[in-house]
Amino acid sequence: PGSGRGGAEESPVQVAVRVRPLLPKELLRGHKSCISADPAARRITLGHSRHFLCDFLFQEASGQEEVYEACVQPLVEAFLQGFNATVFAYGQTSSGKTYTIGEANISAYRDEEQGIIPRAVAEIFKLLDENDLNYFSVRISYLEVYKEVFRDLLEVETPSKDIHIREDDKGNIVLCGVKESEVECLDEVLSLLDSGNTARHTGATQMNPKSSRSHTIFTVQLEQRRGGPGGSGRGGPATGVRSSPPHHLLSSKFHFVDLAGSERILKTGNSGERLKESIQINSGLLALGNVIGALGDPKRRGTHIPYRDSKITRILKDSLGGQRQDTDDHAISPVFLQFGEASSSAPSCPARH
Ligand code: ADP
Ligand code: MG
Repeated sequence: PGSGRGGAEESPVQVAVRVRPLLPKELLRGHKSCISADPAARRITLGHSRHFLCDFLFQEASGQEEVYEACVQPLVEAFLQGFNATVFAYGQTSSGKTYTIGEANISAYRDEEQGIIPRAVAEIFKLLDENDLNYFSVRISYLEVYKEVFRDLLEVETPSKDIHIREDDKGNIVLCGVKESEVECLDEVLSLLDSGNTARHTGATQMNPKSSRSHTIFTVQLEQRRGGPGGSGRGGPATGVRSSPPHHLLSSKFHFVDLAGSERILKTGNSGERLKESIQINSGLLALGNVIGALGDPKRRGTHIPYRDSKITRILKDSLGGQRQDTDDHAISPVFLQFGEASSSAPSCPARH
């Protein structure tokens, strides 16, 4: 969903488009890119005439660091200040979602090829270290939504019926029955990510044998207490925006979401069980598209946002912007009204003769 330029500051939704380079196998088969990009106008064109505007545009030569710094680093800083944030990777299978979000094969990649999650988590620990807080805790959870059913990737034995989404009276979304692992360093997070990944449900399609048919939600939850004796409560890079009194517990969530492939069913030649799967997967994507469309449309502010239509939108309800967090412990403050769409890498088309 494109929010376009203009109003990017106020929009809760920001869209980044990343065009991945053609893969060696695509070059071998003589595929050619069917995309042209105009970075100055932040405009991408499919074929000759289908134009799309976006907030960030990354071309083939853009590396992981550039994408992270432009789209995600500002969200990490806001997260440390107590705001919730979400980054999605959306696109068709093989467009580079998992590569960009940095979920898989972390140990196999060189440092400069690491994606968003390892970079963001490293920065979170770095900022926590620099901030001299009275208290903090970092917890990780890792969920998969497959055919509208949850699976806990950190505790695969948990029956899905034991996992529930609740909303407390302050509008915070609470996941009951989901394992939350307390972590103290980047390596611990990466090994959890790795073991969760092995458990991830994948199925083969004609388009990509490793195609993922499920959504995954990797969540970092932070609780912190700042100010008071031992901490001035001022001066660190992460203080000041949310003017909570000293001693008060500030909590925030950062979701990293790797969505199922957005391809249409017919294209992949699916049938039977796979077709049913695609329809259900697409219903989650459709619901998300409706929510994002509503949030990104200034005319629809304050109107009904259809969060209840899917698991994925229900989980993210308090982290997509819009409502206020109003708890006893917290200063009243809007949830951070922004999230980046990390990857919407465009498909490559076979050359036509
Ligand atoms: P998806 O998760 O969308 O199905 P992947 O992230 O698995 O796609 O990417 C498909 C292939 O393309 C992988 O081999 C990945 O390493 C490669 N790839 C994706 N994006 C890039 C990029 N920007 N630069 C180099 N290789 C990439
Ligand atoms: Mg993937």
